[in-house]
Amino acid sequence: MIGWILAGLAAATVYTAVKENEGGNNGNTSATKHGVSPSWEVKTISMSEDPPSMDVKPYMTDNFYIGSYLCPCCRNNMYKTVFRMGGEEYISVNGKLHIMKRLFTCPHCLSFYAPIEGHRLSDGSVYFLQCKYSEDYIPLISHYNSVGTTQGRPDA
Ligand SMILES: [Zn+2]
Repeated sequence: MIGWILAGLAAATVYTAVKENEGGNNGNTSATKHGVSPSWEVKTISMSEDPPSMDVKPYMTDNFYIGSYLCPCCRNNMYKTVFRMGGEEYISVNGKLHIMKRLFTCPHCLSFYAPIEGHRLSDGSVYFLQCKYSEDYIPLISHYNSVGTTQGRPDA
């Protein structure tokens, strides 16, 4: 089932791939092992916002929904999921674990952006991870989709 996705994949394609992945080799990505994802970095970036246009799919997966932040690379609206209180994800940044409460992604660039705890995504520095291949991206999206929600949370 690998190989059907090309870089630049659209939200609808991701949705299909995530559905297919759910029955498959689940569990063995580094995202699920100890709840840690590989090789995130801190990136200084200026985020801009723009409401999504009507022709953009509102959902990329069950729990990733369209938001107003634009991908810094391609300027498409990014999709977002929120981890519930007590259900936060942890990522490894320079060998240290950091808490992640919200996650933004661009399916066109295979990239992830997360606000640093206590900050908004637009505050200037973010956690950043970019996959080289859709084969790396799909398991991560599947994992975060399975633990993410579409419910907001009050804290930054
Ligand atoms: Zn992008």
